[in-house]
Amino acid sequence: MATRFEVALAGSRPEALRAAAEEALDEIARLEDLLSIYRPNSVISRLNREAASGAVAVDPVVWGLLRRALDLSAATDGAFDPTAGPLVRAWGFHGASGSPPDPQVLAATRECVGWRLVELDPARFTVRFLRPGVMLDLGAVGKGFALDRAVGILRDAGVESGLVHGGTSTVCALGSGPDGEGWPVALPLAPGERGHGQVVRLRDETLSVSAVWGRAFMADGRVLGHVIDPRVGEPVMAASMAAVRLPSATESDALSTALLVLGEAGRARLEALRPGIGLWLRTAGP
Ligand code: AMP
Ligand code: MG
Repeated sequence: MATRFEVALAGSRPEALRAAAEEALDEIARLEDLLSIYRPNSVISRLNREAASGAVAVDPVVWGLLRRALDLSAATDGAFDPTAGPLVRAWGFHGASGSPPDPQVLAATRECVGWRLVELDPARFTVRFLRPGVMLDLGAVGKGFALDRAVGILRDAGVESGLVHGGTSTVCALGSGPDGEGWPVALPLAPGERGHGQVVRLRDETLSVSAVWGRAFMADGRVLGHVIDPRVGEPVMAASMAAVRLPSATESDALSTALLVLGEAGRARLEALRPGIGLWLRTAGP
């Protein structure tokens, strides 16, 4: 996931907390090995090499994550789409800061994108791509999933209070924070802004942020960022930053990406999908 994870725990038994935190971080490292497209031996890299030629059986945990990811794609009309990878690559964002693609390349790439092109068999835990060129990229949901698993380990170890985050873009709270009012977490500011972002309170909840400015380039006065609207094949225009609060980090991660793509139109849709969801959206500025 090419990012830094941090665990901060509170409690009266520091040695037990340290052991739990190490176990949680080990699980995150294990999942990175399974899920990263930047690891040639990961399950996802193997699927990207082989699943267009036939069904490939995978670990049930990975299969379950793919099932949830495709369900979230369906629920967001493809705004969140784990097959968007070829578009991300075509726009030059794989390990780089981006550049506009050749229109012909872009048109061909769009043919390979769409969550309906991935077939999952629940009886055999297999994955198959319905055409060549399809690629899975869990960059918008894997971090949240890894954090959910890490938090599960911490809770099983009896941890009741703490914060865990991945790259500051997804944070999970255990408990209600030092004052019992919820852990205070500030939304990020845009580049160049000063001061503090709006503070959101988390009680046994997670917050994920998705922003265009993480990896981006300028063209025609627009900031073109690494989140692509798969429905049009271009970097998102609808918003510059989206944040989602939900109990599950897997869902807040995927749905913050979806909200960035959908913009204002996404509010009602996500509120209907997950009543009680917290949503923050910036549409102005870079
Ligand atoms: P996030 O920061 O969670 O919004 O994830 C962004 C990353 O997910 C990008 O860097 C791409 O690797 C990938 N991605 C880009 N656009 C989409 C999309 N519409 N749906 C799912 N993943 C995407
Ligand atoms: Mg995300």
